[in-house]
Amino acid sequence: MCDRCLRLIVKADDDDFLDSLELTHAERQLLEKLYKEGEESIADLLELQGKALDEAIQELSEELAADSDELWKVILQIQDGDYFQDKFEQVVYDAFMPLFNLAGESEAIGINTDAQWEQENKAAAKFAKKLKKLVPAMNNTSADRMIRSFEKAIGAGKTPAERAVLVKEVSKQAASGEEGPFNMNRAVTVARTISTAAANGGKLEGWKQSGQVKKKRWRAANNKRTRKDHREANGQTVDIDKPFRVGGEKLMHPGDPAGSAKQIVKCRCTMQAVF
Ligand SMILES: [Zn+2]
Repeated sequence: MCDRCLRLIVKADDDDFLDSLELTHAERQLLEKLYKEGEESIADLLELQGKALDEAIQELSEELAADSDELWKVILQIQDGDYFQDKFEQVVYDAFMPLFNLAGESEAIGINTDAQWEQENKAAAKFAKKLKKLVPAMNNTSADRMIRSFEKAIGAGKTPAERAVLVKEVSKQAASGEEGPFNMNRAVTVARTISTAAANGGKLEGWKQSGQVKKKRWRAANNKRTRKDHREANGQTVDIDKPFRVGGEKLMHPGDPAGSAKQIVKCRCTMQAVF
């Protein structure tokens, strides 16, 4: 899909999602800005990761470049190394925690003008930790995709030299962002998953701090790409401190980082407060 088409689809979905949060004009503008910044930070980070991986692969000898165990080792070294772990955590903190705080504050004060929202509250600190847990899961998906592409290249080569050349080509292509786990498409997926988690997590915390919301209701995103499990969850109403049951999992809110990738990646569902 062309970059522009993808952007248009993303924009339409994001508009739906932001509309459901019922924000003031100023909040909405700030939220849109945060969204974009988050997406850009993730895109930059994936680009760096792709380049680092490619540099390591290009340096491998013919023999090692055609050895999938060795390739797997290189991928994990890049991903699990402190450098990228730290970078990812920083992006989560800088780009997505403001979403949590903004959604929380606007909900808490919108419901109860006496409510207080502190940026450094305990719930926010706890949530930041939960959010960071999404990073390894996201990394696993990209490692799997990368190794499958490498294995395909190894399978296609007839001689060791040919295998090494093919592997190095796959690596170069992935680093250029044309396909594979480091492209814009994936940056959008990662950014959206984290932003849904942050915005809904903040919303829920805001309701708790308002002291007036008793229950919450799941609202499935209304489009063709909505998962069956989430369509079925539409309208489900539970106590504010209890989890929703969605596709056999317990989720405190749409995008709950405690859920599996299957239930949260790119989820655009929201919640409604019940008084
Ligand atoms: Zn959903």
